[in-house]
Amino acid sequence: MIDFTISDDLAARRDRIRRFVQEQIVPYERDPRLTQHGPTDELRNELVELARSAGLLTIQAAEADGGWGLSHVEQAVLYEAAGWSTLGPIAMNCAAPDEGNMFLLGKITTPEQAATFLAPMIAGHQRSAFAMTEPGGAGSDPGQLQTSATFDGENFVVNGRKWLITGARGAKTWIIMANLEDNPHLPSGPTLFLTDGDQQGIVIERIMNTMDRNYVEGHAVVEFRDLTLPRNALLGESGQAFRYAQLRLAPARLTHCMRWLGAAERAQSIAIAHAKTRTAFGKPIGEHQGVSFMLADNEIALHQCRLTIWHACWLMDSGAKGRHESSIAKAYVSEELFKVADRCVQVLGGIGISDETVVEMIFRDMRAFRLYDGPTEVHKYAIGRQILR
Ligand SMILES: Cc1cc2nc3c(=O)[nH]c(=O)nc-3n(C[C@H](O)[C@H](O)[C@H](O)COP(=O)(O)OP(=O)(O)OC[C@H]3O[C@@H](n4cnc5c(N)ncnc54)[C@H](O)[C@@H]3O)c2cc1C
Repeated sequence: MIDFTISDDLAARRDRIRRFVQEQIVPYERDPRLTQHGPTDELRNELVELARSAGLLTIQAAEADGGWGLSHVEQAVLYEAAGWSTLGPIAMNCAAPDEGNMFLLGKITTPEQAATFLAPMIAGHQRSAFAMTEPGGAGSDPGQLQTSATFDGENFVVNGRKWLITGARGAKTWIIMANLEDNPHLPSGPTLFLTDGDQQGIVIERIMNTMDRNYVEGHAVVEFRDLTLPRNALLGESGQAFRYAQLRLAPARLTHCMRWLGAAERAQSIAIAHAKTRTAFGKPIGEHQGVSFMLADNEIALHQCRLTIWHACWLMDSGAKGRHESSIAKAYVSEELFKVADRCVQVLGGIGISDETVVEMIFRDMRAFRLYDGPTEVHKYAIGRQILR
């Protein structure tokens, strides 16, 4: 049965989030602590406390952990509302990379690991990093993983260099992907490790200057220099990193789509308001067909993106893995929302590229969205292989 009804309860929760974001979070978009390298930890912590007071922190967690135990479709409705401000998901502790990392940790940690690493994240007290991508190594093709780990039966020793690692500076919980070399104790191959960010051997080289600015503490180049980890730093089973990464990626890609849909709607609302009031050639610009068509194209794209997301969510709620559909959603939604943001810039005229409105910030972040959690071409590559099988 196909049913697009949003229950009264879900609509009330959506409206509550919308009000919270509009009234309490939007004013922070002008805060100087929203820097070129993203919101600082100080800003993030202040926002998190606002969400905590509003009862809106980590809503995606299981009810037993204080969350709302959401289905994927419910998450789609609520994250879209949170995404109205790019700072909304950060406040509510449902932004990347923490949201995806919490999801993964919830699936594969031991009880001891969950108590040490996951519980403080759910409580909003700690942030996390997921370290996979490497200069010249793992990227679109994780099979090119170069970071290595040795194991002597007692300790792992990790060496390698990563980049584009979001939120690395200040992250307490680290998930590190490295290639476990052959050893007589454990299966070798791509392996995930879980450790504390204060460990000696995790060296933050620098924060990269990037065009986006909505991930806490930006994206770092990191070196693992003889990072020595105990046996219990193993996350899940050794040799299974790619399988676990997939486990994380399918829902994580969709949640990116949900949040950025909210941001694109915000850009559209600003463009519509402008089109109604700005005049040119004797009438409001919205009455020129060229402008109304841009806004109409946006409306169509937003609607189609929402349906694409909801469909993939619905499949996953019914027990399917949804890998193919989440790939379709990520490729389609990231490309379409970027076009929406671009048309909003155009409707705004010259101020569209200025920070007089948040549209230019949304535009730049939307550009980055087309790359992470799989560039569009990589998803198309996977979709193509699937349909030709
Ligand atoms: C904002 C942002 C945040 C990120 N955060 C993290 C993070 O926290 N942790 C982390 O580990 N990584 C992170 N990344 C890295 C991200 O996962 C990689 O950028 C992505 O996997 C692509 O890898 P790459 O940059 O090495 O591009 P490459 O692998 O070098 O690919 C370059 C281009 O080649 C093309 N291409 C590649 N493969 C194919 C194919 N099969 N068919 C057709 N074309 C193809 C695509 O156009 C692609 O954009 C982040 C990236 C961004 C932009």
